[in-house]
Amino acid sequence: EEEVVEKIDYVFKVVVVGDSAVGKTQILSRFAKNEFCFDSKSTIGVEFQTRTVTIQGKLIKAQIWDTAGQERYRAITSAYYRGALGAMLVYDITKRQSFDHVARWVEDLRAHADSSIVIMLIGNKADLTDSRAVPTEDAVEFAEEQGLFFSETSALNGDNVESAFIRLLEEVHGMMV
Ligand code: GDP
Repeated sequence: EEEVVEKIDYVFKVVVVGDSAVGKTQILSRFAKNEFCFDSKSTIGVEFQTRTVTIQGKLIKAQIWDTAGQERYRAITSAYYRGALGAMLVYDITKRQSFDHVARWVEDLRAHADSSIVIMLIGNKADLTDSRAVPTEDAVEFAEEQGLFFSETSALNGDNVESAFIRLLEEVHGMMV
């Protein structure tokens, strides 16, 4: 029996935030397991998944936390944010309200997480082009104002999910060196 010992250089905690039903859980399973679950049910209780990637020759374990429904009660605890180096702030491009709430999520992050946290704004469900309610330019403008990175993704078909996470992890890693 062989044991594979990976030498992890860094463990980065990343939190996923945003309104309910924007696709946070699906984005996470797409990145961590390359899966999309059509009959997923929200469960309560904080969960995280991990995936190890190589960035600039370093083995980085991303420990990515899912709110698992806490956001519905505006009851995200400070423990959720504690130690997070990166955040995926997700809205749904077909739900204007989820984008209007993004500023509030940025405030929450800035209040409870480390001040140097790297935030990636994510417009998810980009596959639903016919129902788009948030123009890309609005999000680009907001991201520039707030100093956030930005990408539109589809957890359903996988578009840009990998590249968005990798970009976030690269930026976090860039702050380490
Ligand atoms: P959460 O509450 O933010 O974690 O959202 P979920 O991950 O549970 O997703 C909410 C709903 O949106 C589910 O019915 C998903 O199947 C659907 N969904 C998530 N991501 C996408 C996507 O990229 N495209 C489409 N069309 N549906 C998505």
